Amino acid sequence: MTNNFSESEERQALRREVAKLAGKYGREYFTEKARSGGKTTDLWLEIGKNGYLGINIPEQYGGGGGGIGDIAAVCEELAAQGCPLLLMVVSPAICGTIISRYGTEEQKQRWLPGICDGTGTMAFAITEPDAGTNTHNITTTARKDGDEWVLNGRKIYISGVDEADNVLVVARAEDARTGKVKPVLFVVPTDSAGFEYNVIPMEIVSPEHQFTVFMDDVRLPADAIVGDEDGGLVQLFAGLNPERIMAASFSTGLARFALDRAAAYAKERVVFKDAIGSHQAIAHPLAQSHIEIEMARLMTQKAAALYDAGDDLGAGEAANMAKYAAAEAACDAADRAVHTHGGNGITQEYGMAGLLVATRAGRIAPVSREMILNFVAMHSLGLPKSY
Ligand SMILES: Cc1cc2nc3c(=O)[nH]c(=O)nc-3n(C[C@H](O)[C@H](O)[C@H](O)COP(=O)(O)OP(=O)(O)OC[C@H]3O[C@@H](n4cnc5c(N)ncnc54)[C@H](O)[C@@H]3O)c2cc1C
Repeated sequence: MTNNFSESEERQALRREVAKLAGKYGREYFTEKARSGGKTTDLWLEIGKNGYLGINIPEQYGGGGGGIGDIAAVCEELAAQGCPLLLMVVSPAICGTIISRYGTEEQKQRWLPGICDGTGTMAFAITEPDAGTNTHNITTTARKDGDEWVLNGRKIYISGVDEADNVLVVARAEDARTGKVKPVLFVVPTDSAGFEYNVIPMEIVSPEHQFTVFMDDVRLPADAIVGDEDGGLVQLFAGLNPERIMAASFSTGLARFALDRAAAYAKERVVFKDAIGSHQAIAHPLAQSHIEIEMARLMTQKAAALYDAGDDLGAGEAANMAKYAAAEAACDAADRAVHTHGGNGITQEYGMAGLLVATRAGRIAPVSREMILNFVAMHSLGLPKSY
């Protein structure tokens, strides 16, 4: 039954279908790829072939014509089956949204179909070593040289550059009229001359990796720029709510995966006379996690519904809250899942301890919990800006 607090029949069916597809692959597939240096390309392409990867992108460009709520459901169900794909957040949701909203007709035709079917994945690069959270301080510069642009700068923690054909790069360009520098977005092919990247060894058990990116006089044609040259922040902001809603879904999916494994183990493992799940010390933390995950999911669905209804402002507050709640719920669920497994919780065989780092990343990226608290303190409570 559909009402204001449950998702539509179509959305629920989508969840079931994605869960079934991802379930064929499962956690063992994901960790095996991660530990052997493999890639999850076959899963990625199958999601694309079934129309789930570009479900939020307009139909005329190969997408499903749905909303952020749909792609968030896909992301969550993949993670809930033990296959959390960070590039879901980046390629269809951030890059796909920005290009759909601000790209020219020609740019949409060139890049969106590949984002939808998975053959033209796009990474996203804003973070820089010296700017960090303070993205106003980025120093990657775009200089005009005749008809071309020349990019110079350095990015860090950029996910999936090795799997992407292009990276949507945030740079600063000088406004010809005012002389002020403004953020501008460029689609940069990963095989461009002067574009180099190195993997950052991370402690996350995932086939998807993070990279440092160096751009040394990367020359781009005039039509590599996405959106208005003078449009500044507007284009960039278009990707923020989708990014937060997707990050929240990534976290709630991982949290559900951890909790499912923990509950299953707690029902089976007997050390004294009954299964360990009969002890409230084990059962209550898991019940608490179930409540926290459901609350975070509800807020995520609210944020997606507001965004898809065109209420960007309302969606902003809800998306921040959802991302916060989901990351907290996921960190706690992973910790409780490890604890429920006792010593097995730390083994590679059970694969629980790796979730501690994967869920912990959700507190830091794509926006840290402190920046969300800053946002809520300022915008929801009207408190003074603290930084
Ligand atoms: C797994 C992973 C994948 C990523 N993928 C991408 C990607 O694809 N593309 C991309 O562009 N970036 C990516 N990032 C980068 C990510 O967005 C940044 O790590 C994040 O924005 C935090 O920036 P930082 O690491 O420089 O931390 P810093 O900015 O150095 O912050 C360090 C700490 O200080 C706190 N802090 C800073 N300022 C304040 C303040 N004003 N008030 C209170 N606390 C403050 C922060 O909350 C944080 O806890 C990824 C990061 C990770 C971990």
